[in-house]
Amino acid sequence: MTPIDHWGWPVLLGLLGSVFGSFIATGAIRWPEGRGVAQGRSACDSCGTSLGAAELVPVLSYIVQRGRCRHCAARIAPSHWLTEVVGLAIGVVAGLAAPGVEGVVGAVFGWLLLALAALDLAAFWLPNGLNVALAVVGLCVGAAGNGVPLSARVIGGVVGFAVLWLVARVYKALRGRQGLGGGDPKLFGAIGCWLGWDNLPVVLLAASLIGLAVVLAMMVAGRRVRASDRLPFGVMLAAGAWAVWLGPQLVPQHIGPVELVTWQPAPINH
Ligand SMILES: [Zn+2]
Repeated sequence: MTPIDHWGWPVLLGLLGSVFGSFIATGAIRWPEGRGVAQGRSACDSCGTSLGAAELVPVLSYIVQRGRCRHCAARIAPSHWLTEVVGLAIGVVAGLAAPGVEGVVGAVFGWLLLALAALDLAAFWLPNGLNVALAVVGLCVGAAGNGVPLSARVIGGVVGFAVLWLVARVYKALRGRQGLGGGDPKLFGAIGCWLGWDNLPVVLLAASLIGLAVVLAMMVAGRRVRASDRLPFGVMLAAGAWAVWLGPQLVPQHIGPVELVTWQPAPINH
């Protein structure tokens, strides 16, 4: 591999990721309030002053301005730079784990999941439009012959939605209150459109473990956790799904018996 192959993809996807992260962070603050993301130039969420080009550079501008607006000195929400850093990390990790088309596809998967997770965290909201976009892009990737076969993705979409929809129904019937958000089954179905039906149990397990870790961390930090506390399950599903995509990218390429597969018997010359 040339250095371009090695470093080009992580750098390119990292830069793209920080820009998408900035866009997603802005959306997570404005969208639930009914304000558009794309309309007009980006402005300070506090004083409304339009931001110049230098103030729109992801992560860096936040560090330079020490987390404050240059005009009104209002604190910029920390979720802003955190989302940018996560977007950047998704790009870099995907580019390192799978340089090339596979990495681009994985990064797109990660950024769509990040958008859903950010909105779920900010407003307990998984918009239908984003869930549908995630599902459609996943099915298109399968139709293009990349990764998991299309049939497994279609079954994953149906099974994923049906299983969590059923769980939500049963929970509500037993406990008399909503345990899952309405968008969670749709998100799980959309994840099935990427990873295929056979990977869904692992996603659910990973999401549950992440949720457990979050609850434990909250308890260690001294926060009281009640059974009625709402945890944004979509965030955990998103994190679990990306971990399940990433896992196999890290393992087989480096440890697998590549030599055995490509080994050819020496030609015998008579
Ligand atoms: Zn301001």
